[in-house]
Amino acid sequence: MEWETVIGLEIHVQLATQSKLFSTASTQFGQSPNTQVSEVDMALPGTLPTVNRAAIEMAVKFGLAVGAEIGMTSVFERKNYFYADLPKGYQTTQLDKPIVGRANIPVDVNGRGCVFRLHHAHLEEDAGKSIHDAYPGQTAIDLNRAGTPLIEIVTEPDMRSAAEAVAFLRKIHTIITYLGISDGDMSQGSMRCDANVSVRLKGESELGTRTEIKNINSFRFVEKAIQIESARQIALIESGGKITQETRLFDPEKGETRPMRSKEVANDYRYFPCPDLLPVVLETSDIERIKSSLPELPEAKLERFVSEYKLSDYDASLLTQSASLANYFETTATVCGDAKGAANWIMGELSAAMNRDQSTVETSPIPAENLAKLIQRINDGTISSKIAKQVFEIIWNEPSDVDVIIEREGLKQNSDASAIESVVDEVIANSQKQ
Ligand code: ADP
Ligand code: MG
Repeated sequence: MEWETVIGLEIHVQLATQSKLFSTASTQFGQSPNTQVSEVDMALPGTLPTVNRAAIEMAVKFGLAVGAEIGMTSVFERKNYFYADLPKGYQTTQLDKPIVGRANIPVDVNGRGCVFRLHHAHLEEDAGKSIHDAYPGQTAIDLNRAGTPLIEIVTEPDMRSAAEAVAFLRKIHTIITYLGISDGDMSQGSMRCDANVSVRLKGESELGTRTEIKNINSFRFVEKAIQIESARQIALIESGGKITQETRLFDPEKGETRPMRSKEVANDYRYFPCPDLLPVVLETSDIERIKSSLPELPEAKLERFVSEYKLSDYDASLLTQSASLANYFETTATVCGDAKGAANWIMGELSAAMNRDQSTVETSPIPAENLAKLIQRINDGTISSKIAKQVFEIIWNEPSDVDVIIEREGLKQNSDASAIESVVDEVIANSQKQ
């Protein structure tokens, strides 16, 4: 029997606003507990929310970037549940009228072109944090995160493997960081992914019963969690068991998923439009203004790199994976005038050094201008490419100017033919036999 895995993703992206979705408290990460909390976030009686315009614009930017329908009138609703880190007793979110509607999102999966459908993306606030390991026998509540703006990006169940799901997630990551609407840092929870997973026999048209793996916080874990959960479901069904629809937790240390809670049905939350907030109504002129503020997006950049710098599709796709890498490449290529050389050095030595020392172009000890100079010194014959690798290692470990290092280490290549010939003559004269 051949099985097929079916995956739909719900991706939470923390928006890079200064203040919260409905209050003026700061959203800065890593501050002392309960120092970034306003009366609104604490739900003190008599307080009222005010919508953060920047969050609305960022959500619209995302929608426009993926070519989605924009909800010209979107409505905030209350999702009611009780939890200690949710002082209001409800989360303000969107349900029937989200700010971003349907879209088809093209994704390259290891060279294979796929299209996955976006169901919608909505704006919502984050909850606070319950900390269970700070005080023995007690749970501590930190409300700093309460009210932080999120967009939740929900796909159709269109992915058929862990690799497809990860490729989609990477694509979303690239888009949100290009747009600058989120730092996308998964380790800090700025982007979190819930994976809905089911299996069915190949050729079957009905979907199987799904489980939802919550809050996975790295690309690698998303891949592992889906593979492990799909294998668990297949083994269970093959041994005569049945899948229960439930929420599960991925434990990377044990390499397993385990049940968290059985899935509540949606209407348990008693959703209703928030009476404290008016619908968000956008004008066509808002859309036009936001559209014209969009930066160049990955696909357009890729095409431009191919036509402007004559790079291969492969090189261009690697170099446009992040906006910062693309900028680094463009600066290097422009300063040294050798795009192919710049691409080779960035994808070769620089990538290797960054991987080795876990750094990124933002923290690279070699600024683009200095890498450009190194390439220029190869191209103008000052040093050979072999010596250039030596210089690269030195300036990577000890940030300094390329020319200064070549001079200091005596690495200049001698291209004076008569000087070389006299050395050759001398060597031959002294080593007749050899
Ligand atoms: P809920 O609102 O209860 O979480 P939705 O129907 O909105 O449920 O689906 C949430 C996510 O689960 C979506 O990303 C959707 O694509 C995915 N999904 C729904 N059914 C399945 C299934 N049978 N297998 C895999 N994913 C599914
Ligand atoms: Mg869900």
